[in-house]
Amino acid sequence: MSENKHTLLIIDDIIDNLMLLGEAMSPEYKIKVATHGAQGLELAVQEPLPDLILLDIMMPGMDGYEVCRRLKADSRSKHIPVIFLSALDKESDELQGLDAGAVDFITKPFKLEIVRARISTQIELLRMRQQLQEARLRAEAASQSKSVFLANMSHEIRTPMSAIMGMTDLALEKAADPQQRSYLETVKFSADSLLSLINDILDFSKIEAGQMELDEHPFLLADAVEAAVRTVSVLSREKGLDIITEISPELPRAVEGDSLRFRQIILNLLSNAIKFSEQGPVRIVIRQEKSGPESVSVRVSVIDRGIGIRADKIGTVFSAFSQADSSVSRRFGGTGLGLAICRQLCELMDGRVWVESEEGKGSTFIFIVVFGRTAEEPMQKKKAAAAVLEDVRLQPVRVLLVEDNPANRFLLRVVLEKFQHQVTEAVDGVEALHILLEDDRFDLILSDVQMPRLDGYSLTRIIRFCEQDEDIDIDTSEQLETGLVERLRRRLRGRHRLIIAMTANAMSGDQEKCFAAGMDDYLTKPIDKEQLAATLKRWLPQS
Ligand code: ADP
Repeated sequence: MSENKHTLLIIDDIIDNLMLLGEAMSPEYKIKVATHGAQGLELAVQEPLPDLILLDIMMPGMDGYEVCRRLKADSRSKHIPVIFLSALDKESDELQGLDAGAVDFITKPFKLEIVRARISTQIELLRMRQQLQEARLRAEAASQSKSVFLANMSHEIRTPMSAIMGMTDLALEKAADPQQRSYLETVKFSADSLLSLINDILDFSKIEAGQMELDEHPFLLADAVEAAVRTVSVLSREKGLDIITEISPELPRAVEGDSLRFRQIILNLLSNAIKFSEQGPVRIVIRQEKSGPESVSVRVSVIDRGIGIRADKIGTVFSAFSQADSSVSRRFGGTGLGLAICRQLCELMDGRVWVESEEGKGSTFIFIVVFGRTAEEPMQKKKAAAAVLEDVRLQPVRVLLVEDNPANRFLLRVVLEKFQHQVTEAVDGVEALHILLEDDRFDLILSDVQMPRLDGYSLTRIIRFCEQDEDIDIDTSEQLETGLVERLRRRLRGRHRLIIAMTANAMSGDQEKCFAAGMDDYLTKPIDKEQLAATLKRWLPQS
């Protein structure tokens, strides 16, 4: 069918040539012709776009080389392959033609069969390129949806996990029987390992889906390193390995960057160093790589004297799901995701990570990341979680807890009641509004964001709308009975209520959405006692 024919554009000032070629090629191709360069350039960008251009060199006005260069400089025509057809037959002519961007060069006089064969080769290549391009786009789209699916799934798994972990903690506080305690401790240990696996999958898929965002703020370098060392201290003590930290004095004390992600990289490398070593020490050395007026590159080396990595495996350890040796993974466990995440995080921080290792002697993992300079000295390092908890002596307050998941609701109620707060429960936004209509004397509304009927964002928007005197733009969902918002407005007007969201943080943008909806703060699920206590302390009066 003629519609499926490819289009050839022939540019030649000699009409006889045009006629001859045009006629010979017309059974297989749609033909467009131009008798000079400027006309050729115009036709090259007009629909139907040519799939291939046959171009003479010696033409009055603009010669073929110039036409070719202009075709290649224009984004609309630069992908169209050009074949020169010319009486010029010196090697230097051909070279000049290929330099100008042509894919082939045929000297005149030519045999029509040769021209036909060469055109058909180029068209075939073009077709294959298009197929490859389409396949690549399909693969990228599939990989993107897979990553989004994984990120969503790991979030879904984290919600019941937080209930399991929270309930286990509560049960452990009550259990006196040693056997029951040991069962519960095993549950807790397994739940912790499962959560760390899920977090790895979540991080990995978030980065793959382009959803990972850095949370940058001033922090003390030494604090982040110390926090990572503290986290692995039990493990290193069990194995009898010392951890030695050296931080170069030329480094600034405080920098601006994502301290949690920086700590995560160090923690990953340190845990591996401990996991794969029988003798210590494990050294962590932090130096300044480069220093500029706005930024500083920090170089961190984690050095162990462990089993090392075979030379032929070194290239693969940073790939996802890759382990240097399957017998190693059987012995030591792990998913092979840790280093892949480290690599991605380093790249997000404008840096890189690599390893130098000798089998049987040990490994040195090195990474460089770039931080901003900051004049601001961050607040003194956070106290250990337990200390924060003990510190909090909040006045008891009234909390409206809006959460659709019954296990999480129960868990949060228990934790809030431990702090002597008085809790009223709502299973979704609609129920919360009805409760507020009856009684609005709550000091805090703690609301999940994803809920059936009316989600946390809409709930907040409606409350804020009702609190304000002037009109704001809201979409009062159809599920609300008529008149409800009007009645609520009469009750809520004039006082700002503290609303704290509980977000899944599975995808970037959750937190921005919370603030845009009018929430005052957010907690990230799974919500633990420490996080809850620290946030409440920020907002609620202390006794
Ligand atoms: P995991 O530790 O979960 O298997 P990682 O991505 O952290 O995954 O590591 C990938 C692999 O790299 C490990 O399975 C191990 O074979 C190798 N590896 C990482 N760190 C070390 C180390 N310090 N010493 C020896 N081998 C290591």
